[in-house]
Amino acid sequence: MQKSITIIGGGIIGLSCAVKLAEAGADVVVIEKNEVGYGCSYGNAGWMTPCFAMPLPMPGMLMKSMKWMLNPSGPLYIKPVPSVLLSQWLTRFLLSMTEEKAQTAIEALVKLSIKSLQDYKQLALEYPEIDMQQKGLLMVSATKDGVKAATQEMELVAKHGIPGNFLTGEQIKEFEPALRGNLLGGVYFSQEAHAEPLKVVQALAKKAQKLGVRILEHTEFLKANITTDGKTKKIKSIQTSNGEMISDSFVLAAGSWSQALADELSLNVPILGGKGYALIVDQLEAQPKVPIMIVDRKIAITPRSNSLRIAGTLELVNQDFSITERRVKAIFDGAKEFLQIPNDIKVYETWRGLRPCTPDGVPLIGWAKDYSNLMMACGHQMLGLQAGLGTGQLVSDLVTKGTSDLQRSVYDPARF
Ligand SMILES: Cc1cc2nc3c(=O)[nH]c(=O)nc-3n(C[C@H](O)[C@H](O)[C@H](O)COP(=O)(O)OP(=O)(O)OC[C@H]3O[C@@H](n4cnc5c(N)ncnc54)[C@H](O)[C@@H]3O)c2cc1C
Repeated sequence: MQKSITIIGGGIIGLSCAVKLAEAGADVVVIEKNEVGYGCSYGNAGWMTPCFAMPLPMPGMLMKSMKWMLNPSGPLYIKPVPSVLLSQWLTRFLLSMTEEKAQTAIEALVKLSIKSLQDYKQLALEYPEIDMQQKGLLMVSATKDGVKAATQEMELVAKHGIPGNFLTGEQIKEFEPALRGNLLGGVYFSQEAHAEPLKVVQALAKKAQKLGVRILEHTEFLKANITTDGKTKKIKSIQTSNGEMISDSFVLAAGSWSQALADELSLNVPILGGKGYALIVDQLEAQPKVPIMIVDRKIAITPRSNSLRIAGTLELVNQDFSITERRVKAIFDGAKEFLQIPNDIKVYETWRGLRPCTPDGVPLIGWAKDYSNLMMACGHQMLGLQAGLGTGQLVSDLVTKGTSDLQRSVYDPARF
C-alpha cells in the first residue's frame, strides 16, 4: 500500500524531502504556514559548496570565537541573555569542538553535499531558471591567520575528494581582477556551484507537484494527537490552521522553528537561530565573476545576473527577526575593503534569516526518539541549500526502505 507522509515546513529541506519521497512512490503532502521558500531558504548566499561541509564548532575555534562573541560587530555574536536553552546550547557547543567529532561530521556532510550537488545539476537541466553555475569558489584573505585557515580547510576537504588550489595574493588578483586590497593568498575550489536560492525551492515545488505532491500553503501545524503503547509514541493526526490531517508518517522540516514545534511533541531539539543578513546591491563596475568568501570577515559575495549578493554574520538568537543596523554596516564595510563598492550604491534589499543551528553543527536526520512515525529533518545551520537534495534522499530512503548509503549515526536525533 502507498505510504502517506505529511511534511511540516516548505523550505529547501521540506521540498527536497517531498520530491525524493514522491519519486520513491509515497503519497506526500507539504504544509507551510506562509508560502514555500520564504523562510531561511529565501535569501541565502546560494552556495552549493561541498568544500564548506564543516560543522559550526570546529576544533581550535574556542579562543577565536570567544573574541568574536564579545564584539557586537564581529562575524559571530551571542548577546548575553539569561536563557536555559542558550546556556545548554553553549555548553554543548563548546564540548563539540573536538577533532574526532569534527572529522565524523565533515565526512558525513561532504557526502550529503556531493550527492546534493549532483542532483541539483539534474534539477537545473529541468528548471534552468534556478540559474545554477559551476564556476568554483574563491576563499581570500589579507591576513596570515586567514590564509592559514583557508589552507587548512583545503587540506581537510581534500581527504574527502574535494579539490582546491592554493593561490598567492598576486595570482588571486590575476584570476579575479574585481578584488582589491593587500591580499596575502587564498584557495580556489574549482568544483563548487551557486544558484538562486528562492528559485531552487520554487523549482522543487513545481517538480513535487508534477509528481503528485499536494502543497498546502498558509497551513500551520498547531499540535499533534499522539497515542502510545506505553513505550513508543505514534502521531495519529495533526491539528493545523486548516483542520485535522491524518498520515502514516510525518516529517518535521521547520528550520529554526523546529525547536518550539518539537517542544510541543516533548522532544529536546536544541536549535537556535543563527541570524545572518544578505544585501542585494547593484552590480559593480568591477563585478566579480566567481563567488568569493572573505575569510577575515566571514563575508560571502555572490555575483548575480544584474546585481550582487553580500551575505554574512551569525548572531545566535531565539526567534528574533529584528535587523541590527550595526551588523548590516559591518558586512557592507567588510565587503568594501575587498571590492570597489561606491558609497552610494543602490541597495535593493536587506534581508535576514535564521539559520537553524544545532550546538554540534550537525543536522538531525532520522526517526525521532520515542516515536514510531516522526522523521526529523532540521538543523542544517549554514548548509541547508547545499545539503538539501541529499537530505531529501536520506529521508526518503529511511522512510521507504529503512536504510540508506547516506545514513550516518552522527545525524541521529536521539543524541539530544
Ligand atoms: C545569510 C545567510 C546565508 C546563507 N548562505 C547559505 C549558502 O550559501 N548555502 C547553504 O547551503 N546555506 C546557506 N544558508 C543556510 C540556509 O539558508 C539554511 O540552512 C536553510 O535555508 C534551512 O532550510 P530549512 O528548510 O531547514 O528552513 P526554512 O527555509 O526556514 O524553512 C522552514 C519552513 O517551515 C515553515 N514553518 C515553520 N513553522 C511552521 C508550522 N508551525 N507549520 C507549517 N510550517 C511552518 C516556515 O514558514 C519555513 O518556510 C545561509 C543562511 C543565511 C541566513
